[in-house]
Amino acid sequence: MRVGICGGGLGGLSAAIGLASLGFDVEVFEKSPTLRATGAGLNLWPNAGRALYGLGLRAQYDAISVKLDRYLGYSSDGTPLFNNDTSNWPETYGAPSVGVYRLALSTMLADAFGRDKIKFGHEVQSIEDKGDKAVCHFTNGASYEGDVIIGADGIYSVIREKLIGGVNFRPNDHHAFRWRAVIDLKDVDVDPAAQTGFYTSGGWLSVIPIGNGKAYWFGSVSGAKSLDDFIAFFSTWTNTHIPRTLRITPRDTIVESPLFDVDGVPYKWTHGRVTLLGDAAHPMMPDMAQGASQTFIDALALRDACAKTKDIDQALHDYEAERRPAANYVVKCSQRGSFLGRNNVSPVAVRYVQEIETQAA
Ligand SMILES: Cc1cc2nc3c(=O)[nH]c(=O)nc-3n(C[C@H](O)[C@H](O)[C@H](O)COP(=O)(O)OP(=O)(O)OC[C@H]3O[C@@H](n4cnc5c(N)ncnc54)[C@H](O)[C@@H]3O)c2cc1C
Repeated sequence: MRVGICGGGLGGLSAAIGLASLGFDVEVFEKSPTLRATGAGLNLWPNAGRALYGLGLRAQYDAISVKLDRYLGYSSDGTPLFNNDTSNWPETYGAPSVGVYRLALSTMLADAFGRDKIKFGHEVQSIEDKGDKAVCHFTNGASYEGDVIIGADGIYSVIREKLIGGVNFRPNDHHAFRWRAVIDLKDVDVDPAAQTGFYTSGGWLSVIPIGNGKAYWFGSVSGAKSLDDFIAFFSTWTNTHIPRTLRITPRDTIVESPLFDVDGVPYKWTHGRVTLLGDAAHPMMPDMAQGASQTFIDALALRDACAKTKDIDQALHDYEAERRPAANYVVKCSQRGSFLGRNNVSPVAVRYVQEIETQAA
């Protein structure tokens, strides 16, 4: 079985690991010249850990991630708002909640799959259905024909666009951008086993440890249209470490991501021998920090569906039937809002238990 995976991000690489473990001949095509590190850090939940463990990556994943024992919330003057204990989650949910450096995660996945099987500099441009085969064409003039093609080319998926005409991205009306960066953990005054967030209805900033002595901060401010607006918003939060953290973070390392609500979901993932996976299949707001977790679950579900039958059309059908409703439920949860922000929903660790573990595990 020849499988071509377009996109060498978290989804493409984890799917590649799963399908290669079944003996499939898998190649990954990535448009970037090297492994991408966009996003700086990630908060991953027990459902991500269980999926990665299921893909045989327990030792590697535990080695690169930092277990989070608490989610701590404070107001802008440092008054405690919540303390959610997550220390027993490995026993309760089978894996911890963690902070992880995105490049370490990508490197782990690329090494587990085999870097020689990743074709960098291959940007998929179009896709062709040939019945029991599918072909993708790249902007560099190359083509690949496989029994199956997987579109794991991220939130702005070209393959999704070709298959179903895309989705509509609407700028998020409450938090139009998220800013984030990696700094040294020793330079920020937070609990090294916690996600620590500072919140008001106008804006928030959180910090998590991500290993190797590093921490990741990320935040949004309502109405902020630039990094200057974002930094200025926190200038009076002098009872917290935030003004100093923002001052010592090299400006050119701060990443800006526009945030969108997505219209047009749900849509069909599988079209002939082409299917979608990860953000291409279920683009979502990052407020639940579930995008990567759902992506790893896709990869495991696809492997398991392919392991159960030799009929690849049936396997693609079963994969989508299992994953599409669950992932789209999480898309909806992610659009619902954020703590003290849009709709003032519960803190994210509480939501994880109530909305993900109990409803979509
Ligand atoms: C600000 C922000 C914070 C986030 N925080 C979290 C978090 O804390 N926890 C969490 O679980 N999730 C988080 N996410 C979501 C998470 O990053 C994604 O859900 C996850 O990366 C999805 O994996 P993917 O492989 O589908 O997409 P990606 O990881 O984006 O990978 C897609 C890959 O496809 C490649 N590609 C794109 N177009 C083409 C093309 N035409 N041809 C070939 N290759 C192509 C890209 O270069 C990329 O390598 C966050 C997202 C954002 C924006």
